[in-house]
Amino acid sequence: MDKAVFLDRDGVINRLNRGSYVTSWSMFEFLRGAKEAIARLSDSGFLIFIITNQSAINRGLLTEAGLEVIHNNMLFEIEEAGGAVEGVYHCPHRPDEGCKCRKPETGLFNQVGEDYDIDYPNSWFVGDFESDREVADRMGLKFILASGGGGLEKAVKEILNE
Ligand SMILES: [Mg+2]
Ligand SMILES: [Zn+2]
Repeated sequence: MDKAVFLDRDGVINRLNRGSYVTSWSMFEFLRGAKEAIARLSDSGFLIFIITNQSAINRGLLTEAGLEVIHNNMLFEIEEAGGAVEGVYHCPHRPDEGCKCRKPETGLFNQVGEDYDIDYPNSWFVGDFESDREVADRMGLKFILASGGGGLEKAVKEILNE
């Protein structure tokens, strides 16, 4: 079984702009210390998964191909900083669609569970909303609330018990 850290994207890895969506790479801004924090986690033997709600897709503001470009650029920069991300899982649906993958539903986490053998009680979810805690509870994951510059760095210190 693998220990994992699930990371929310918007607000944890990149700056959250309330009311607007990241619909191009130029709008994606890494938070201070985020790339380095991810590198420390992957160096410590955790599998890293990014779990993200991207309703901009079904709102018609972003295509699946456009999201892939953003994520490929993001992953390239994380790798340049020495980090390794095992997978990025996203929900394209709007809240009114009632899907099973938009957080705080657990569908995306269950998809990871189908692809990997995760040791949930020894794994973590880092999110920037209190509602993210709900998902962690449902999945039996430990939870850390983190947001803004330096937030993920602090969360990683807690995970690594420093
Ligand atoms: Mg978020
Ligand atoms: Zn969904």
